[in-house]
Amino acid sequence: MPKRILITRDAAAEPHGQAMLKRLTDLGLQIEQLKGNRLPALTKGMDLRTAYRKSKDTLAIVNAPAGQMKLQPIPPSADYQFHLAKGCPAHCQYCYLAGSLPGAPITRAYANLDAILANIAAYAQRGTTVLKRRPADAHFHPHDLTFEASCYTDPLALEHLTGSLSTTIEAFAKTPGARLRWVTKYDTIEPLIGLDHSGKTRCRISLNAEVVARRLEGGTADLTARLAAMRRLAMPRSEGGGGYPVGAVLAPLMPIPDWQSAYTDLLERLEQALDFGVDDLTFELITHRFTPGSKQVLLDWYPATKLDLDERSRAEKRNKFGGTKYVYQKEQMLELKGWFGEQIERRFGPGKILYFT
Ligand code: SF4
Repeated sequence: MPKRILITRDAAAEPHGQAMLKRLTDLGLQIEQLKGNRLPALTKGMDLRTAYRKSKDTLAIVNAPAGQMKLQPIPPSADYQFHLAKGCPAHCQYCYLAGSLPGAPITRAYANLDAILANIAAYAQRGTTVLKRRPADAHFHPHDLTFEASCYTDPLALEHLTGSLSTTIEAFAKTPGARLRWVTKYDTIEPLIGLDHSGKTRCRISLNAEVVARRLEGGTADLTARLAAMRRLAMPRSEGGGGYPVGAVLAPLMPIPDWQSAYTDLLERLEQALDFGVDDLTFELITHRFTPGSKQVLLDWYPATKLDLDERSRAEKRNKFGGTKYVYQKEQMLELKGWFGEQIERRFGPGKILYFT
């Protein structure tokens, strides 16, 4: 539950803004209604730690800016990314948003959901993919475009406050040519069970070795709860489940001491969670990486972190814009790729891995 909630003038005029206001009021939360559309300087003059804490405790309901209606490609995960919110209340010490979203990490939930969904319908109608290579997954068949909703947030983390994910799942079910993908580290999936999704939403759960999840993923659901949530989402509707296509995002993979046994434990638990037989299952494998910018932000946010951020043990990779990121050495990458590939194929069958990066 956020400690402070603000809503801008234009966001309050949106039907979904009003729906969020009602939801928040019903939860007994106080909301500050702003006269304009600019958020006040919420963390001015605060030291970094206080600013971080205050920001993470704040939810701002705003309209997505017009620029977000020009959707960006997001290879290899989907054709396009779009955003229901920007920011996340969790405290992962490797957070992917550090360094990519500027400013204080306030969570902004978007009220102009009707415009966001209409924009997606227009993209789907045009049907133009920008991906050069589309992974071999039912979600990448020739005629439908895939849209990823989790690049800037964990949508399930906010669902009890916004209802945006449920509305989006139901909208995609009715939008020809559009498929939805989203990922979470939370387990509050109850509102999603019983929704009419027409099989067009793939729900992915972010999983990691127990020790990584426990030490580095503050404020998220524990691994047992995430696996139970995945099971329920995948279970047939006739048995009280969601009947969704599901996926496991194993990220960020880290060659921690004795990593094979830590990840064997994870894969065994995943097998058990899906022991009723799930054929339509995907895996996405993402190794840990950081940039000079994200390292600095993470050290500001989590000065006592045990996360390995030592450039000297990493390989340096340059992107097409000249930026640098630090990834594992080539030999380590090959070892991880080979081990996970073999384990996943043996336990879950061939052709399930969308990508390893
Ligand atoms: Fe960052 Fe994702 Fe963790 Fe949220 S759940 S803090 S977005 S890594």
